[in-house]
Amino acid sequence: MILAGVMGWPIAHSRSPRLHGWWLRHHGIDGAYVPLAVRPEMLEQALRALPVLGFAGCNLTIPHKELALPFLDHLDDDARRIGAANTIIVRPDGRLEGRNTDAFGFIAHLRASAPAWQPARRSAVVLGAGGAARAIVCALADAGVREIHIVNRRRDRAVALATAFGAAAAGWEDLPRLLAGAGLLVNATSLGMSGQPPLHVDLSPLPAGAVVDDIVYVPLETPLLAQARARGLTAVGGLGMLLHQARPGFEAWFGILPAVEPDLVALLEADIRG
Ligand code: NAP
Repeated sequence: MILAGVMGWPIAHSRSPRLHGWWLRHHGIDGAYVPLAVRPEMLEQALRALPVLGFAGCNLTIPHKELALPFLDHLDDDARRIGAANTIIVRPDGRLEGRNTDAFGFIAHLRASAPAWQPARRSAVVLGAGGAARAIVCALADAGVREIHIVNRRRDRAVALATAFGAAAAGWEDLPRLLAGAGLLVNATSLGMSGQPPLHVDLSPLPAGAVVDDIVYVPLETPLLAQARARGLTAVGGLGMLLHQARPGFEAWFGILPAVEPDLVALLEADIRG
């Protein structure tokens, strides 16, 4: 039996066990994917235990994605550039490889949901400069977006992220002007998420044909997405990024690159709606 899991603290909220469990059953694989509640101060010991316990690897979630880097033996390019790992592979010699699949998950879902989007045609505006925003800016730069504007509450974080990826930092007051020239707006803040303050953005300056991508997926239909749909813009929800980022890890551990099947989407949507 092949073993994998997800380490986080807390971990009960994670939807990854349901997601990987569905793929394991769908593909008839003899494997298990389990939640692993690991306190931050125990992270190194938990990671070192993976080969001993026979794990093929694991995902990392809050707050471990950045904390894990010093304990890993090898990082892929994305993990190094983003400064975080969300997927750990145990190599045959027991060494730990850290990968970041959030950038892949974001761009794969965006391309699947907005096939008409042309990265090089117009600029992109990213709201937020936290961990998710870092992966998204990395993905957009690699996809060929020539002009990326990062808007964040704490300006120093926007400047640091912009500097790392050749993007530009801007303030909330610049948004109307930036949106007027943008082909893509991404919300990578936690604003608009259940239990968090609302996100107030007026989408009216966006050109026709622009895409609005909100990576928040609780609720599934955020007010930002509803506003985009009401304007006739392409609205891309956050659940698909979560599903797509999981695919490369599943392939590395269980040997099959799984697809984002409609039945799986329906299962997780029902789960989120409660
Ligand atoms: P994070 O590192 O904590 O970053 C949070 C971001 O939100 C920062 O830019 C922060 O701005 C901003 N923010 C928080 N409260 C704010 C407020 N009251 N006013 C203005 N800005 C505020 O979190 P993260 O890991 O990047 O995650 C961000 C969101 O993305 C979360 O909702 C998370 O669930 C979602 N997410 C979704 C996926 C997916 O697969 N769909 C993947 C990862 C994350 P400051 O820098 O100024 O504090």
